[in-house]
Amino acid sequence: MDRMQDIESSDREVAEIIKKEHNRTEEGLEMIPSENFVSKAVLQAMGSILTNKYSEGYPRKRYYGGNQFIDEVETIAIERAKKAFGVPHANVQPYSGSPANLAVYAALCRPGDVIMGHNLPDGGHLTHGWKANFTGQVYKSVPYHVKADGYLDLEEIRSLAEEHKPVLMWVGATAYVREFPFEEFAKIADDVGAYLAADIAHISGLVIAGVHKSPAKYAHIITTTTHKTMRGPRGGMIMVTQKGLDKDPELATKIDRAIFPGLQGGPHDHTTAGIAVALHEALQPDFKEYAAQVVKNAKALAASLMKEGIKLVTDGTDNHMLLIDLTPFGKGHGVFVQEALDEANITTNKNTIPAEPLSPFYPSGLRLGTPALTTRGMKEPEMEQIGKWIATVIRETKAYALPASKPEIPGYLKAFKEGIKGNKTVHDVRAQVVALCKKFPLYPEFDILH
Ligand SMILES: *Cc1c(COP(=O)(O)O)cnc(C)c1O
Repeated sequence: MDRMQDIESSDREVAEIIKKEHNRTEEGLEMIPSENFVSKAVLQAMGSILTNKYSEGYPRKRYYGGNQFIDEVETIAIERAKKAFGVPHANVQPYSGSPANLAVYAALCRPGDVIMGHNLPDGGHLTHGWKANFTGQVYKSVPYHVKADGYLDLEEIRSLAEEHKPVLMWVGATAYVREFPFEEFAKIADDVGAYLAADIAHISGLVIAGVHKSPAKYAHIITTTTHKTMRGPRGGMIMVTQKGLDKDPELATKIDRAIFPGLQGGPHDHTTAGIAVALHEALQPDFKEYAAQVVKNAKALAASLMKEGIKLVTDGTDNHMLLIDLTPFGKGHGVFVQEALDEANITTNKNTIPAEPLSPFYPSGLRLGTPALTTRGMKEPEMEQIGKWIATVIRETKAYALPASKPEIPGYLKAFKEGIKGNKTVHDVRAQVVALCKKFPLYPEFDILH
């Protein structure tokens, strides 16, 4: 892309870094379930001159002049979002998923109000009331949990809601491999008079494609990122459903005001354009196939891993994501496996598991997913192979165990890293990973840089 050539000649340092990151993504398996690869069309919208404009406000209600075309692009993004999710109102200005969630609080809650969300070590998001997050400090957070089997504990959720009478309840998570029971959540929220916000950051692409149930009929508000399974630029959106407007006719206005002027200044118009392009893509028939393949791939990967004797939380998946339970290899083993897989060019993230026996710093699980690999064109045969490689690498970490005494951990991890860097089996896997990746090029036009 000629835009890269300009960086090359004007700023070699940054151009080199982009090149290295490009190589890393071309030659590795990107399996962090919250990541994806955007289309060239989305990249071009993101890299467009729309980044230059200030447009505080909303279409036809701006504080600056010269916004006639920005109004057009934001209106298109809004209309496409409404169509994609079947909702009467959408705000496409949140800078990302976390600010979108903050705006929901700002619109509906006062400091000290009771809110309920999915506990972070059980797979929830920071912004659903975790104690280290602003939302856990300003509001009275009542977290709910998953059962030891990994499924949401609806009985606990009902009894906590009846006891604490939250103003706002969240459904949605960042590490949950089963379909969300939106309908059951709605019954509980309706019974206690709470607003129900569905945070579908991870699964919004699956929802648009119809391969995961939509919360539109059940929740009052839907928030999402635009860069995960939706395959757009980094950004966020907030939708108000018909059910939300029926409960509170002012809800759309409250949300819009919470974003601007409540929390944000000028929207990122180049991102808005990227979101519009991504939504257009997500509304095409081939995106349905893509999303269906994401889930088929996750199921194929799960089957392959389980055949290799690897334990999965809930013994499988309904969506794009898998959680490996590494406790058979020792508590806190996620640290070793993430590192060893990195050495094999397989990118994943260590994660807590239900009833985590150690801590979020040294968790006992590994989270991985298939959205990015599916964008590259990989299918079930590749998933089966990748499952075998991952199992091979996991077995190479078997001899390691986290020291019980905390001060010994950093030194031990350093020695482990050295050991893994010299591990021939892991490097054999890496060579095969690179060979596979070469068959599925991502952005070949960047090759002019090499
Ligand atoms: C990723 C995620 C977010 C936050 O998105 P950012 O863009 O990283 O701020 C919020 N909620 C859930 C459930 C997520 O998975």
